[in-house]
Amino acid sequence: MEMVFRRIEYWIDGDRGAQIRLGKQTWNAEKIRKRVLKWCIFFVISFLIANIFLAYLIGSDRLIQYVIEGPLGHISTLISLLIFTGVFYFIFAWFREQVCIIACPYGRLQGVLLDNKSIVVAYDHIRGEKEVGRAKFKKNEDREATGKGDCIDCFQCVHVCPTGIDIRNGTQLECVNCTACIDACDSIMEAVNLPKGLIRYASEENIEKKAKFKFTPRLKGYTAVLVIFIGVLTGLLFLRSDVEANVLRLPGQLYEHKENNMISNVFTYKLLNKTTRDIENIHFKLKSHKGTIHTVKQGELVVPAQGLAEGTLFIEINNAALTGDKNRVVIEVYSNGALIETTSVTFLGPRNYN
Ligand code: SF4
Ligand code: SF4
Repeated sequence: MEMVFRRIEYWIDGDRGAQIRLGKQTWNAEKIRKRVLKWCIFFVISFLIANIFLAYLIGSDRLIQYVIEGPLGHISTLISLLIFTGVFYFIFAWFREQVCIIACPYGRLQGVLLDNKSIVVAYDHIRGEKEVGRAKFKKNEDREATGKGDCIDCFQCVHVCPTGIDIRNGTQLECVNCTACIDACDSIMEAVNLPKGLIRYASEENIEKKAKFKFTPRLKGYTAVLVIFIGVLTGLLFLRSDVEANVLRLPGQLYEHKENNMISNVFTYKLLNKTTRDIENIHFKLKSHKGTIHTVKQGELVVPAQGLAEGTLFIEINNAALTGDKNRVVIEVYSNGALIETTSVTFLGPRNYN
């Protein structure tokens, strides 16, 4: 909102005053030109965002393929894309910070995360109010001598606030930390020759007691939680295997005696390929026991890119190698001779009464 849409709005419509004037202006050539230009650019950016969102859902390769094949062959995808474009356009062109106030849970959470040592966008009420309180600016007046605060009550900070709050009333749930009030107040302070920073990033303690920033236990706690989350995420990304293998017992099947004291169990397997290339020449091996695995499918087993391969397999193990009626067996999955995944399954055998 701040880095893209608001900048475009300022570039086309001008600053806040110019935007208000344009809004009140009757529909003439200038207003039509500016509005059409702005809405078209907003629509194009919303369409791009919707495409990125779609790529997240269906994968960028498939999206590029759809684009090359042309949208007419994928009408339902195009309709969903246009619906999402409409949603993003509605949010960025009109609904805006209301999302932060109404829909976003972070605003609610903020209340329990902050304390008087937290650095936020804050009004320095000690400096702004002093003994007498805020008062309008008068030329050549010595505000120091009269005890008036540095806030000249110009309401610029309130006018520029996208969520319409008065930051002088303290930290509020609606503040989205956009810092527009800081910029507005700084330019007023400059104009009336007072030091900048009446509204600035500061903590309540910093304003009231001039306390310097401290790495408090709460901050240490948040940092530790953040480091743990980043660590877990990084670990999950690195440990993420290219293939997910699931081997499950065929419902209702126990075991079967074969020749030479062999016991056979039947299973179904599902291989999920998370990569964008085909995984070829797959075969299974028993790791934990001496035995064999046969797949029902004849020929080379291939899992297509971002796809699934499923089928049935038989595991045969000599009864002498089994330790009871339930045996945990470990299966390795190989592609072109390289180990790509390991999984395990329960293998049933005759009950041992000794
Ligand atoms: S912009 Fe600054 S001086 Fe003006 S009302 Fe806000 S805090 Fe006071
Ligand atoms: S930073 Fe200032 S202008 Fe922005 S939302 Fe908060 S109070 Fe309003």
